[in-house]
Amino acid sequence: MENNNKNAVSSYFGALTFDHKAMRKKLPKEVYRALQKTIQTGNKLSEEIAGAVAHGMKEWAMESGATHYTHWFQPMTGATAEKHDAFLTFDKDGTPIERFSGGQLIQGEPDASSFPSGGMRTTFEARGYTAWDPTSPAFLMKGGKGLTLCIPTVFISYHGEALDEKTPLLRSMDAVSKSAIKLLGILGVAGISRVNTYAGAEQEYFLVDRKFYSMRPDLVMSGRTLLGAMPPKGQQLEDHYFGAIPNRVLEFMQEVEEELYLLGIPAKTRHNEVAPHQFEIAPIFERANIAADHNLLVMEVMRRVAERKGFALLMHEKPFAGINGSGKHNNWSIGTAEGMNLLEPGDTPESNIQFLVFLVAVLKGVYKRAGVLRASIASIGNDHRLGANEAPPAVVTVFLGELLEKVLDAIESGKVDFATEKQVLNLGLAHLPVLNKDYTDRNRTSPFAFTGNKFEFRAVGSSQPISVPNMVLNTLMAEAMDELADEIQSKIDSGVDKDAAIQEVLRAEIAATKPVRYQGDNYSENLQQAAADRALPNLKNTPQAMRVLRDSDTREMFVKYSVLSQEELDARLNTRLERYVKGIDIEARTLQLMLKTFVIPNVSEYQGEIAISFNALVDAAERVGVSGKTLKSQGGHLKELAESLGAVIDLTAELDAVIEKMDTLEEGFDMADYSADVVLPAMDKVREVADKLEFMVDRDKWELPTYSEMLFEH
Ligand code: ADP
Ligand code: MG
Repeated sequence: MENNNKNAVSSYFGALTFDHKAMRKKLPKEVYRALQKTIQTGNKLSEEIAGAVAHGMKEWAMESGATHYTHWFQPMTGATAEKHDAFLTFDKDGTPIERFSGGQLIQGEPDASSFPSGGMRTTFEARGYTAWDPTSPAFLMKGGKGLTLCIPTVFISYHGEALDEKTPLLRSMDAVSKSAIKLLGILGVAGISRVNTYAGAEQEYFLVDRKFYSMRPDLVMSGRTLLGAMPPKGQQLEDHYFGAIPNRVLEFMQEVEEELYLLGIPAKTRHNEVAPHQFEIAPIFERANIAADHNLLVMEVMRRVAERKGFALLMHEKPFAGINGSGKHNNWSIGTAEGMNLLEPGDTPESNIQFLVFLVAVLKGVYKRAGVLRASIASIGNDHRLGANEAPPAVVTVFLGELLEKVLDAIESGKVDFATEKQVLNLGLAHLPVLNKDYTDRNRTSPFAFTGNKFEFRAVGSSQPISVPNMVLNTLMAEAMDELADEIQSKIDSGVDKDAAIQEVLRAEIAATKPVRYQGDNYSENLQQAAADRALPNLKNTPQAMRVLRDSDTREMFVKYSVLSQEELDARLNTRLERYVKGIDIEARTLQLMLKTFVIPNVSEYQGEIAISFNALVDAAERVGVSGKTLKSQGGHLKELAESLGAVIDLTAELDAVIEKMDTLEEGFDMADYSADVVLPAMDKVREVADKLEFMVDRDKWELPTYSEMLFEH
């Protein structure tokens, strides 16, 4: 802590991580140097230095008061998993000592029986091995009474199959590096040691008061409200967006940021989002695998701080029906380890051509693999955004903005000659970053937008780890770059001059990928029509999207670029279908419970009181001179109440039957389709009537906290 100002973030940034500073202090010089090299090259930790690194790491952690360590990893079920172990062991004569060996960094062996292997065979199915990803620093996590040393690890089976989502992400980054270096080589850029992808995740979330949250079984069990009518105010309150942040929320944000800084996570922006009680946090971008770890930590830290502050953190994609949902904008770029952003236009003809080549690679990859990209973000929660009446849509298209559209059109029509320097410069690419803010912000509805020197994949769900979408983006990019390189090379081999070869290939690819470029409003019917006309995949729900993972063409890509094997793909498909089915099952059963223990009894009670008071009124009517017309109106009210309650009772019985039938179906797509096509509609049907009743019943009788309370009370 060199900085004397205790409040300066720079004085404590990363203090809870085993970062360069801590490493230099705790490791012998040669070990430190070797480890730095490992980190830069993205290689595995070698056995020779593992022991010394482990020792240094343990000393550092214990100095800060840590007694336990955990391998921290990303299981296929999403989020993170950890298993804590004490440093404490006993030596030969029973003396207690603290130990942490190199083996625990290279190949720990937690009992993995509770983590799904997605049905991957192997006698050792229940066991998995962990190994530190040295590019992602170990850190100390607060929790309970003390600190725990967390080691970001990959998690693999006895036979080397990935049981986690980090391993495929790392493999996809290797694939990107290989293809990009090959393509750069053809463009005449030599001496590149490594190409990485980078990600920055803008994270949206809701905060609601914990007292309301704990009274809502749906929020507790499924993260979203399964009942609840839109408040009269709703989202008309647009002043929330970029408005003043309520003080209690500000305190929450400040505490979150402080913890994130300690963990070396560069949280940068905070602001209100579109909906009431919705907010956003965005860190500065990092290497994609580290960004993935950090995004998980952001979610975890926010969850804990929220609890401390009396809030519940809602990460669900659609916690409130009829109100803007939450997403995660995954900003993504590709660049050399030396710091050259390959999606950044430059001011020389060469750098502009290089930019165009990589831009076209993105178009090619996203066009060819739009379905896989859609599948990468499919989940129950996200289905309520994608494919519903909300942006971004389920159709993956690319938004480039007016200027780039013009540039690509000019190239396609042959108006630009790459051999003429001036023409390339005249494309105006150098001005792109300046223009970017203005012209990209005009289309917030696009699921995949170019924003100056990166793409912003906006369809990712707020609760989803970003490993999977980035893994898919990287893989499709590796494939596209590889194919572009081959196309250009084969022209050169047949005697075409290099500039001409590049130009011809780009021209052809720009024309071929045109259907994926969409500049219009993605909310609108036009997009649906365009998707049909252009034969773009329009996968409305998770089971539909997951079918892409069965296509042999999809699978060949993952296998060819050594990202996922056939077996690993099956494991992911099975796990995700199972999660989908189980998730909807939990929702349906929670709704059932709420209908039976809140809605029906609450409304019955109110109806009883109304009936008594109505009877009394009928008795007194003649005496006090109440007209028949008035009696009819009040009777009508009672009738409507009774009929709606009757409908809820009937529809609840229907839902019971629907849920029961689930057990008779075959696991996998059968169950998943049934969940999407039968269970969810049955839930919606009863909800519609129940929500109507909410506005007919005395507030004191309605036990569930309402949308108004959850969204407008601070
Ligand atoms: P917005 O206008 O969408 O708010 P910002 O410029 O604030 O965009 O950036 C949003 C996110 O994009 C941040 O996390 C930022 O660090 C990240 N980002 C910026 N440049 C890159 C890049 N080259 N690659 C990946 N992410 C980036
Ligand atoms: Mg953004």
